[in-house]
Amino acid sequence: MTHYRVIILGGGPAGSLSALFLLQRRPDLAGDILILEAKRFPREKICGGGVSGRVTRRLRELGLEPEVLPRVPLRGFTVCYRDMRHRPEFGNRDCFVVRRSALDAFLLCAAAERGAEVRFTPAVGACRERRGVRVMTADGSLFRAQVLVAADGVNGRSREWFAAPHRGAKTLLLQTDAPFPEEAEDLHDSLVLDFTPPRFGIRGYVWFFPSLNDEGQRVVNAGISGGGFSSGSARRLRECFRAVLKDHPEMAGAFRAEPRFRAYPERNFSILQRFSVERVIFVGEQLGVDPFTGEGLGICADSAAAAAGCIARALEEGDFSFRGYASQLLRAPFFPLYLIGTTYWPQSLWRQPCFLFFMSTRESSAGGMNVIDYYAKVFSGLIPGEELYTLRFWRTVLRDAVGVLPEWLSTSAPTPCDRCP
Ligand SMILES: Cc1cc2nc3c(=O)[nH]c(=O)nc-3n(C[C@H](O)[C@H](O)[C@H](O)COP(=O)(O)OP(=O)(O)OC[C@H]3O[C@@H](n4cnc5c(N)ncnc54)[C@H](O)[C@@H]3O)c2cc1C
Repeated sequence: MTHYRVIILGGGPAGSLSALFLLQRRPDLAGDILILEAKRFPREKICGGGVSGRVTRRLRELGLEPEVLPRVPLRGFTVCYRDMRHRPEFGNRDCFVVRRSALDAFLLCAAAERGAEVRFTPAVGACRERRGVRVMTADGSLFRAQVLVAADGVNGRSREWFAAPHRGAKTLLLQTDAPFPEEAEDLHDSLVLDFTPPRFGIRGYVWFFPSLNDEGQRVVNAGISGGGFSSGSARRLRECFRAVLKDHPEMAGAFRAEPRFRAYPERNFSILQRFSVERVIFVGEQLGVDPFTGEGLGICADSAAAAAGCIARALEEGDFSFRGYASQLLRAPFFPLYLIGTTYWPQSLWRQPCFLFFMSTRESSAGGMNVIDYYAKVFSGLIPGEELYTLRFWRTVLRDAVGVLPEWLSTSAPTPCDRCP
């Protein structure tokens, strides 16, 4: 039995960032933090690889320079519904697309260099004991620690082991890399997100991100979210992707051949879930992703920073209930954007295009930013998320909503029941 102060289950971004934030607060824990990772790194993780400016800011807080990674810098994103387009600018150059194998290896190496011990072996079980937690790995080793950070991602089993069930909906995504379509102008420096799938009964979106493959060549990273897990679900997602593609003739060059999709699940963040239990703290995709954009790395970074603060305090005070963790998460930068995302999806069940989306593609009647412009600037870290709680923001939203309501009522149609294109 080997003892550590902290064991981190999973060496993805949530696990590595938890170690990095903890070591920043408590350098004396070097050698006393163990990261258990099931796969050898660099390992592939199916992902869009979109990194928001808020994550870049977190990396800089840790003294890490993401500029050393091969990446595609971004200026904004383009939101689409059929032929409607709106392109909010980020207002800074802090957002980028990266290959996850490179980002995750970079973070895990940084954690190891700063004093976390990394073992590449899967944990096969864990339990709470009177004065800590115990973890067993596939090679039969046993480890003990005062705290466990559950960073084992969407397919991890830590919630099962500690009887803290998931509450957020789990959805299926399909992802592919295709040759970069040079004629797609928006794609050169922006994320393209198409919110047409709800029209076909799929509560998701299609994305086209400018990316790089392992050889460093430009590719488009594309996919569709919002699938269920019943039989035929992947087929319906593929058909919907094809239908949405018809409104993107500029992407045609990339998708002449049938895309070779890879499937992967994702889980939405939910405020109804438990964020921690005695001695165990959940981070990253054990908490979920933003339901609107599917952004998970923001939640990884914010939860890792919050968890590190709570663990450092717990080790000092000897109280491992992590009572303050939930309130810290709800005050974290990702949370205001989560609130907008959860307002969007219920509307998509009702009429298409959904009202919030329709409003987002119209100039603000107040002459300033509309709701999605605000969203983009918070996403990029240019303005703080708290701006979305101000009277100024809500006054703008209300004025825009009243202004576009008649046009929306004449343009929109009831959302069809669950069906394919
Ligand atoms: C198709 C797709 C596109 C996405 N696009 C974006 C995007 O553009 N931007 C964005 O911000 N987010 C995106 N996300 C979400 C993002 O990928 C996740 O939120 C993020 O990977 C979560 O990081 P994590 O560290 O919590 O989990 P992971 O990255 O999944 O890492 C968990 C790690 O734990 C390890 N592990 C699991 N079980 C065990 C065990 N028993 N023992 C030891 N190790 C274990 C795994 O091997 C893995 O390395 C996307 C997700 C999908 C599916």
